[in-house]
Amino acid sequence: MSETLQAVRGMNDILPAEAEFWELFEETVRSWLKSYGYRPIRMPIVEPTPLFKRAIGEVTDIVEKEMYSFVDSLNGEPLTLRPEGTAGCVRAVIQHNLLAQAPQRLYYMGQMFRHERPQKGRYRQFHQVGVEALGFSGPDVDAEMILMGARLWADLGLEGIELQLNSLGQPEERAKHRAELIAYFEKNAELLDEDARRRLHTNPLRILDTKNPAMQELCAAAPRLIDFLGEESLAHFEGVQRILKDAGIPYTINPRLVRGLDYYNLTVFEWVTTRLGAQGTVCAGGRFDGLVAQLGGKPAPACGFAMGVERLIALIKESGGEPAAPAPDVYVVHQGEAASRLAFRVAEGLRDNGIDVVLHCGGGSFKSQMKKADGSGAAFAVVIGDDEAAAGEVQLKPLRAEGAQQQRLKAENVAEAIIDQLIGSDEEE
Ligand code: ATP
Ligand code: MG
Repeated sequence: MSETLQAVRGMNDILPAEAEFWELFEETVRSWLKSYGYRPIRMPIVEPTPLFKRAIGEVTDIVEKEMYSFVDSLNGEPLTLRPEGTAGCVRAVIQHNLLAQAPQRLYYMGQMFRHERPQKGRYRQFHQVGVEALGFSGPDVDAEMILMGARLWADLGLEGIELQLNSLGQPEERAKHRAELIAYFEKNAELLDEDARRRLHTNPLRILDTKNPAMQELCAAAPRLIDFLGEESLAHFEGVQRILKDAGIPYTINPRLVRGLDYYNLTVFEWVTTRLGAQGTVCAGGRFDGLVAQLGGKPAPACGFAMGVERLIALIKESGGEPAAPAPDVYVVHQGEAASRLAFRVAEGLRDNGIDVVLHCGGGSFKSQMKKADGSGAAFAVVIGDDEAAAGEVQLKPLRAEGAQQQRLKAENVAEAIIDQLIGSDEEE
């Protein structure tokens, strides 16, 4: 026998029971997005590598060490599996001129790929729900995005997800802060780790985003970007905060919140839980007014956020939320050629009436088929043997209702009988 093949490390199969959970999650997410006027967009999973270099920034964890990049062996084009969705979404919006008529509220869901060390809440293939509002400049849309988050946590029955907020100001303000930050880190050069030393002159703000516990104290005492913000940036930040206060959404200002990507300005935010261990950020976002122009579009302001689906699902489970595995209404059991033909007709007829049916496939004794019917969780078995088939009839056997009797019915009457009994059992509950 040949060796069995395994999935790529850090990339997970999502098996049926788990996938059903995901579908319920996605349904909630879709109706939540619709209620805020967001529309779906679907981009390719593979994009030209330069897109991410330009959008995310050369000196970032993602571009420096996390991208799955390769050269297309047929035409030599450098390609990358998307590590995030914003770059591709903005590329698509520019390419198809979507901002010509009106601002856009867009969302997407799907796989992202980052070559990280796999651990709880951190995978090499993971999923995000990404939400982008393009063409809006005011603090209102930033605040609305945060309100959206709060509503989704409530819709999902999640508590204790805390909001952290910061403002990164504008590029000129960051430049002044940057000079002071470099001076501060240079003064403390002996305390810097290797990553920090490398980034000191390329992207010192990123040093504040470090995950190294040994550097936390040094970073906590570093000059704060927020102290360098001008009047306009502060007014924007206050605008966001006013709406949050009106809506009664608590938040903490975290001056060290800088985000792992270069394209952000003004508002940045993260939703964080302490219940998932080290990987506690379930949603992160902010404003990126420069990105559309940076990718060659006509300048347009923008704001967005992304949620980590694996982390949210883990949190829902941690909170005790477990959607029941959906069961069919009916399992059809049949034996013999005539019975099998009638079984197909009956199953399709039931589905015409909106009844969920699993038709037994693969033969076997009545006894083994009945075991499968029971195991499926179906409310009824429809049983057809030679005898029934010859008469154009079926046995309708209730599997869950106590004391309920098996009935022999004309095949064309079985849908009605099932619907009557399903409605009847609903009314008793
Ligand atoms: P982290 O600091 O945890 O590495 P990040 O800043 O790299 O996060 P973003 O690029 O902002 O993450 O992505 C948004 C969200 O996507 C994160 O808050 C997280 O919930 C999720 N996420 C990011 N990377 C991974 C991963 N490798 N595995 C699972 N979820 C992830
Ligand atoms: Mg990361």
